[in-house]
Amino acid sequence: MTDTRYLVHGVFWADPQPAAPAAGLPGAGRAALRLQDPAGVFTELALDAGTLLGFRLAAREKRCLGHHKVHGPADRDHVSCPDRAAAARGTQCGPCFAVDDSRLIHDFHRGGYVPPGLRSYLMQPHWLYVATFANGASKVGTAANLRKWHRLAEQGAVVARYVARADDGRVVRVLEDLVTRDAGLPQQVRSAAKAAGLTAPPPAAALDERNSRLAARVRVLLRGAGQEGFEVVDERWLRPALADAACTPAARHAYPHDLGSDAHGFRIASLTTSAS
Ligand SMILES: [Zn+2]
Repeated sequence: MTDTRYLVHGVFWADPQPAAPAAGLPGAGRAALRLQDPAGVFTELALDAGTLLGFRLAAREKRCLGHHKVHGPADRDHVSCPDRAAAARGTQCGPCFAVDDSRLIHDFHRGGYVPPGLRSYLMQPHWLYVATFANGASKVGTAANLRKWHRLAEQGAVVARYVARADDGRVVRVLEDLVTRDAGLPQQVRSAAKAAGLTAPPPAAALDERNSRLAARVRVLLRGAGQEGFEVVDERWLRPALADAACTPAARHAYPHDLGSDAHGFRIASLTTSAS
């Protein structure tokens, strides 16, 4: 690669069993780094076991990644930041955060307004899952039908099970709140805690046992919840093979250098992500 400056949008995963191969993605169950050049054109850089990845930080400050407009279940547009501003709220500047459709998702089940495109996205079937991470923490969460597998890959789950299939995104969030209230499962595990857990993950069998037990408890809770519009399911999430080694105990240590500046180079052996 040349010395082009890219805006890094992060690591994205391709579905292990895609209904139709995703355009521009490197293959089933594989990861790619999504880069945007100064002209706004996106490139997917495949990240496989053995890939050499080298980069130099152009600036210490993170730049805004823009926002999304949702038009339907599988239809959304990315809008680049008009000001190329600094990222003030996570990965966005204030104005981009304010107009991002995803901001409205969390209040939908409490009667909050959503525009028609986002409504049609939220009215697709949704899945409720219990995920367990390398630091031993677990959470309850939701995924839209078309994001069923990706949502868990992005968050870096070590083990996860789907516990319910809901008619839409409103029902699933009612169930999610119920599980948090009555089973004490949080809806978020901090990215930094998940990543730190990867230096010494517990044996896979221990995490699987914990996840299985929590998922069973949640299924019992859901069956007695007196809610409608969903069915209880018992289905394992399939972890990407590229993440296996990172999620397994081994002698390893945290990267000792500051990734916020300077130049870095790696040969990838295994890869997992820790989006929140
Ligand atoms: Zn912006």
